Amino acid sequence: MADLMSKIISLAKRRGFIFLSSEIYGGFGSCYDFGPLGVEMKNNIKKAWWEEMIKNHEDMVGLDAAILMSSKVWQASGHLTAGFADLLVECKSCHKRFRADEIKIKKCPECGGQLTEPRKFNLMMRTLVGPVEEEASTTYLRAETCQGIYVNFENILNSMRLKIPFGVAQIGKAFRNEITPGDFIYRTREFEQMEMQWFCHPKEAKKYFDYWTKERLKWYENLGIKKENLRIKEVPAKERPHYARQALDLEYKFPFGWKEIEGIHNRGDWDLSNHSKYSGKDLRYYDEETKEKYFPYIIETSGGVDRSFLAFLSEAYQEIPGGRTKTTKPTKEIEILLKLHKALAPIKVAVLPLVRNKPKIVKKAKEVYQLLKPHFVCQYDELGSIGRRYRRMDEVGTIYCLTVDFESLEKEDLTVRDRDTMAQERVEIKDLIKVLKEKLEN
Ligand code: ATP
Repeated sequence: MADLMSKIISLAKRRGFIFLSSEIYGGFGSCYDFGPLGVEMKNNIKKAWWEEMIKNHEDMVGLDAAILMSSKVWQASGHLTAGFADLLVECKSCHKRFRADEIKIKKCPECGGQLTEPRKFNLMMRTLVGPVEEEASTTYLRAETCQGIYVNFENILNSMRLKIPFGVAQIGKAFRNEITPGDFIYRTREFEQMEMQWFCHPKEAKKYFDYWTKERLKWYENLGIKKENLRIKEVPAKERPHYARQALDLEYKFPFGWKEIEGIHNRGDWDLSNHSKYSGKDLRYYDEETKEKYFPYIIETSGGVDRSFLAFLSEAYQEIPGGRTKTTKPTKEIEILLKLHKALAPIKVAVLPLVRNKPKIVKKAKEVYQLLKPHFVCQYDELGSIGRRYRRMDEVGTIYCLTVDFESLEKEDLTVRDRDTMAQERVEIKDLIKVLKEKLEN
């Protein structure tokens, strides 16, 4: 299966989805850059999540908090203490460090040296804020986006006139000094999270925990992840994050095994009560009807944009030995088909002139491209045989290939080829935008 992963990584680089950060300098710190197609797909994932949270749910608002926050936030949240530290062992000869829970043998996997006893190592990245280094204050790049939501609890509640229960959704970068980054973009030091925090009465926490678990599973399934490739893993008390009263991992069956893509946590009153204590501001909620004053419990759904990107990519990747075409002799090549959900595919429509040595056909194809460009993420391609161009588009998951041929010049129409069925139909150019919009939305 490692082989499958290297094929996916190779496609991702070759076709402009993902590049190694600072690649010309040999890469940097397990960080990655999203290329021209990668950024489209990543934006599509974030849009699908945002719409799911904000449009499909009531009592939900959004936030975009700063990455840099007062270091007091991280004292209150418990991230600066042992709570956000991994247990590590260090090799006494090569000094490499490994996560204690990943080491199955008592020797260094790199050099066979003796390992130290496990000790805690903080994952937060420190930075200095202020122009003069000596006077600058130390803070940290956020290790999770949700703290920005908790410290704004009162602002959001008052400005939006909300009542418990309600939720706040946020997408943004997070940073962790991971000890063992790896598996491509699965575990990196800079990544993006899509987090939703649901504030509710403590008595309703269990009900909402179950509700959000179901909702989140449905989201992945609706975007094309097969049921059998998703599972729930309850996290036992001793393995839970320091803030969680109940926790589960949603796991995806990656080519390298079952791994977490999203965490669902009942954070209880951990965050609001600690921020009250540290800031001196009473963050309890007052219920006008019952006259009760209490710290709401928080149910969190915390997904990774990068991990779900890799899950969607792995799920969509297919190889067809000899190719799919039945009309011509099968080629010896292996064809790649990226069967991404319509909402996630980076390119929706490709416009292809049948041949490139007929100026009238090329001109018409370019006109169609200009017509569609404001409406869809669209690409124009005239290089190579038409079959080869279809395959290039299948490989990056383009939903429809539009071909302008000789008939197009007389009839003002073109063929629309469906990525999955390869069926072609003729559509009049004047109807194209409407027809494609309908097709893409269904
Ligand atoms: P793990 O056990 O894999 O380190 P975690 O339990 O620490 O993950 P959470 O703190 O629950 O992860 O973070 C929520 C989500 O953020 C994860 O499910 C994952 O999708 C994403 N995430 C966390 N750490 C990373 C990372 N280093 N690289 C990419 N995504 C990450």
